[in-house]
Amino acid sequence: MRNTRQRQVVLDIVRSTSTHPTADWVYEQARQIIPNISLGTVYRLLNRLHEEGLVAHVDVGGRKSRFDGNPGDHQHIVCEKCGRIVDVPDVIDASTTQRIEEITGFRVSTHRVDWFGVCPECQAQSTR
Ligand code: ZN
Ligand code: MN
Repeated sequence: MRNTRQRQVVLDIVRSTSTHPTADWVYEQARQIIPNISLGTVYRLLNRLHEEGLVAHVDVGGRKSRFDGNPGDHQHIVCEKCGRIVDVPDVIDASTTQRIEEITGFRVSTHRVDWFGVCPECQAQSTR
């Protein structure tokens, strides 16, 4: 039962934010609700939730694993200055897919696109 509550708390935390948090961040939040929870438990629960398809791994080349409470189809844009990861709707449409098929001769089944740039906050800082 204890495990079920911990699992729900971790899931609620990941779902409550759109910041694509690290396990460390989730642990800091979880500790405020369950003071005796360990970082190892948070890691285990996050990985189990990932296996169950409730939480996504965000792999955009950062050093630390980041998690996403939205496992549905969408893309990400990453700030090259502060590392912020923001959701982007998938704008690759049928005509783009068709063009890739024409160029390569492949039949496309899926695609993965990550965007990179400088976020509005970092742009504002560099012009100050
Ligand atoms: Zn930034
Ligand atoms: Mn996302």
